[in-house]
Amino acid sequence: MMQRYLALPDSLYQVIKPSKVEDPSLLLFNQELAAELDLPPQLLGQDAAEYFCGNQLISAQLSLALGYSGHQFGSYNPQLGDGRAHMLGQINGYDWQLKGSGLTKYSRGGDGRCALGPAVREYIMSEAMHILGVPSMRTLAVTTTGEAVHRHQAEAGAVVSRIGRSHLRIGSFQYASSLGVIKELADFAIDQLCPEALDADNPYLALYQIVQRTQINTLVHWYRVGFIHGVMNTDNVALSGETFDFGPCAMLGEYKLEQVYSSIDQQGRYSFGNQKRIMQWNLARFAETLIPLICENEQEAITLLTQELEHFPNAFEQEYAKMCANKLGFEHSENPLVSEFFELLQTHAWDYTEIFNQLYHSLSGEKPQLPSELLDWAQRWQRAINHQQALLLMSRTNPKAIPRNHEVEMLITAAENEPQDIQLKIDNYLNYLKGNVCSGTSWGNPDAEFDHQYQTFCGT
Ligand code: AMP
Ligand code: MG
Repeated sequence: MMQRYLALPDSLYQVIKPSKVEDPSLLLFNQELAAELDLPPQLLGQDAAEYFCGNQLISAQLSLALGYSGHQFGSYNPQLGDGRAHMLGQINGYDWQLKGSGLTKYSRGGDGRCALGPAVREYIMSEAMHILGVPSMRTLAVTTTGEAVHRHQAEAGAVVSRIGRSHLRIGSFQYASSLGVIKELADFAIDQLCPEALDADNPYLALYQIVQRTQINTLVHWYRVGFIHGVMNTDNVALSGETFDFGPCAMLGEYKLEQVYSSIDQQGRYSFGNQKRIMQWNLARFAETLIPLICENEQEAITLLTQELEHFPNAFEQEYAKMCANKLGFEHSENPLVSEFFELLQTHAWDYTEIFNQLYHSLSGEKPQLPSELLDWAQRWQRAINHQQALLLMSRTNPKAIPRNHEVEMLITAAENEPQDIQLKIDNYLNYLKGNVCSGTSWGNPDAEFDHQYQTFCGT
């Protein structure tokens, strides 16, 4: 175990231990991730729950809470930070962070705790994203604490063990900028995430370019599978492009660009279709923090960064158009059938996952269930594609199954009511998402009625 964040200026973090909890018990453990990580023996032993809830540390003085700022729904909050999280160090180069592990100096009015429901949601959604090929942080374990946390009512407390390449956020840069230590943080980020930037003429401009490319890649994956993050504040955007902060996220059922599930997002700022504009806006906030590093002449630095930022729409559209074409079995995006399809999709609001599954079936000899409004298009499409290539591209690009909102909620309720066999239920569910369908599952049916009234919540 190492603790690389100690190399940062100490104004950026607080050295603080997790709070002890009463009665830790391991609720979920991610065997697959554990096997990839080569865990220290303490995390595999009898007392693993003691470590996963933060009662015991593998070595002393390793635990930090990181400070950050952030634009929340567009308004700047200078003082956020790990208000309920502790960075314990790195395992195989990946950050290991506890969430729900007690108060820090960044807790503001919060209790430093996390309830079991949101912890289970994070476990399922982060693993589902990973299975669907979307860059994402992952969850190694969830422990219950034996203590109650008070939300709308008393709920069981839990601690999440989150694993990611880096816990730096755009908000970390805003914080470092306000404290006058932006160079130190940028150098740290280059070292941690993209040492290749050092080979460029201007490493800090290269850092920006790499981050922009990485965010576009993740965003296109979100659009590919129908993921709505729900709270794309600058503090919830990881510099590494790993999806994280799963509080109010949800999946798109019926295709609607304006779809929002989060109860507090009344303006649709973080709607499905708006995510690309928000990412560009967030990247502008990131770019601002780098101005003093790009060159001595401030005006010139602004011009250089603005040029990069102005590439965003085109760079995104290019990747996005290719992804959309691939979903329909075309290698490239030129074919007008692609935009025609997406217009039909928006007009008729078909289920985003199912419609591609049905088109795939129509090629593979199974009897498809295509809506009547699509039949004319589908005939022309069948003539235009190369079947062999289309089958390959479509199976690579389209998820057969997604973590549907009602399914995830059902599992969360099961975890709250019958925690004793939840590991098995979630393992089975994730297996199903991987395409290993066990006989007799009822997963995979869209539930539009459920989605119509579905609401998700921040502040969990
Ligand atoms: P989030 O909405 O999860 O992105 O959190 C926004 C900010 O609130 C971050 O600084 C969190 O650390 C902090 N926060 C959220 N929940 C709690 C809590 N229960 N206790 C302390 N801080 C919290
Ligand atoms: Mg957050």
